[in-house]
Amino acid sequence: MSKVSAEMQCHKCEEYGEGSDRVKLHGSRRAALKVVKSDVLTDSAHQFSVLVDSVRDYAIYTLDVNGVITSWNVGAERIKGYSAAEIIGQHFSKFYTEDDCAAGLPMRCLNSAVVNGKHEAQGRRIRKDGTEFWADVVIQPIHEENGILSGFAKITRDITERRKSEERVHRLAHFDQLTGLPNRITSLARLQDMVNGGQAMSVIVADLVGLSPINDTFGRAAGDAMLNRAVARWVGAVSEQHWIGRLASDEFIVVLPGIIDGPELREICKKMISSLDAPVVGDGRQAYLAVNLGIAVHPVHGQSAAELLNNADLAVNQAKARGRNSYAIYKSAFRDLLESRLICETAIERALPDGEFELFYQPQVRLKDRRIIGAEGLLRWRHRERGLLTPDAFLDILEKSPHAHKVGSWVLREACMHAARVRQIGLSKYGVSVNLFDAQLRSGQLVDEVKCALADAKIPGSALHLEITENIILDHSDTIVPELHKLRELGVGLSFDDYGTGYASLSLLKRFPLSQLKIDRSFVQNLCGDQKDAAVVRAIAFLAREFQLQVVAEGIEKSGQHEQLHRLGCQLGQGFLYGKPVAGEELLRLYKDRLGRTSKSTKKIGFLN
Ligand code: C2E
Ligand code: CA
Ligand code: CA
Repeated sequence: MSKVSAEMQCHKCEEYGEGSDRVKLHGSRRAALKVVKSDVLTDSAHQFSVLVDSVRDYAIYTLDVNGVITSWNVGAERIKGYSAAEIIGQHFSKFYTEDDCAAGLPMRCLNSAVVNGKHEAQGRRIRKDGTEFWADVVIQPIHEENGILSGFAKITRDITERRKSEERVHRLAHFDQLTGLPNRITSLARLQDMVNGGQAMSVIVADLVGLSPINDTFGRAAGDAMLNRAVARWVGAVSEQHWIGRLASDEFIVVLPGIIDGPELREICKKMISSLDAPVVGDGRQAYLAVNLGIAVHPVHGQSAAELLNNADLAVNQAKARGRNSYAIYKSAFRDLLESRLICETAIERALPDGEFELFYQPQVRLKDRRIIGAEGLLRWRHRERGLLTPDAFLDILEKSPHAHKVGSWVLREACMHAARVRQIGLSKYGVSVNLFDAQLRSGQLVDEVKCALADAKIPGSALHLEITENIILDHSDTIVPELHKLRELGVGLSFDDYGTGYASLSLLKRFPLSQLKIDRSFVQNLCGDQKDAAVVRAIAFLAREFQLQVVAEGIEKSGQHEQLHRLGCQLGQGFLYGKPVAGEELLRLYKDRLGRTSKSTKKIGFLN
């Protein structure tokens, strides 16, 4: 290294270099070199030159005042790829990218070094072979004894690897690894920035529905791939100035700057929903996903990112309650609803230990002779302030509360015990139907609980029917099939409740080991006046015959409905015509009473023994 003849200063107090080239340039004093005209110092200048020359991890070179390279160490050769012979005499702007050169960056760096006494920067530079690398650069002006600028000393370090790992860490901290979308922290920060900037916008919380059964059935890889497909479709459904982030495993945020209401917002929601109309494919599997959307608008629905997200969350819950593929815009009433929900949840917690739940029973009859074959157990809550409540007042909250499983187990045991008592008074073929909660199917304990309830009540499996709604079945898809088979092996009947109201009913008939279809009340209501309802009932009865299932019609209030249902091929019925739901004790009394009368008279109405 020649011509280093001025003060050089270490820009950072740190250990430079690695491995064999470890050279410590601690502090400006140690790194400083003053070349004066004494022989002793000329010796030390030579030593320093040798030292600099041997540094391999740093490009150390000098420029003249115009930026032409005047010296070149071995580190420079290694990092930039040019030998000293090749590069000395050329302009240092050779190392800058075309854009940087066009912007006049090389000379600006030199000016900055002169003006500030030193220039430090990081940027992309070019090697001889044309490849780019990240450089950490220090430029130091060199002055003659008389103060006149004679050139520059430049130290460049290749920090590409460090930049890469910094970028990796940054990506991990700020972006979701699976989708590459901004993660929760980044999304909230971005949203808050937009709020601070006064940006009017819609914030959508999108809840992807159906992923967990896919993970359970097809495995995580398929689930991940399908999630990515769904996200890609949403990206296609929004414009470029909109952005999407991932808040949690199946929860996303979609931010629509400038859109605050009206047709445009609805249009985007519909597009996001319909983007999932076609099945998604992943890992060679295919499945259907759905989405629920909750919307909060800035500034009307919130003054901070957290508040907007909170309210969009409330709205998405509302959308969920409306069913899959729904969207809801936040209303302050949602908050009131949440409050009453919380109050109700606390009350539910003590309702079971305090014995406030009761099971009512509604008789089920054989249509051809109106003989009673059993009853459906229906939950009631004797609320200490509000009186006797039917499920519509609390079921929605109970189902989603952590108490659903416990209440469901209680219902199951209670119903079996009641059936046992009825069978004991002489109705030997009497059975009971029990409605299942989603939580019971999810628990993995259902089969054992059913076995226990039957054994404790000392009744056979055939005396029990479990009623399942389509939504529950859809949510668990194939994962519950083995459990349902075990129940059937116990002789327990499986009934598909509210049949005809869902949308995947046909394929489910094939896959699930059902024994009974329960026609929804809505089809029975207008049966006598509505040709279409009659057609639905006829079709269900036909299906049931083909699949060898029993058909029960519910909500029968009039004799006309009874007659027609019988004509259309239904075997069993339930409704106010035969009896309203009543307390267990009362029903037992009624049965005893009727048993006494039946034995004395020749009345057709009786029991199936
Ligand atoms: P569901 O299973 O469809 O039960 C039938 C509902 O229709 C009952 O309402 C019953 O009182 C009513 N109903 C019966 N016959 C007639 C009629 O002729 N006309 C009219 N208008 N209504 C009739 P309920 O007892 O209010 O139960 C509502 C829903 O709550 C049930 O619908 C069921 O889905 C759920 N549910 C009730 N008990 C339980 C339970 O123990 N566990 C679970 N998981 N769900 C339950
Ligand atoms: Ca039912
Ligand atoms: Ca029903």
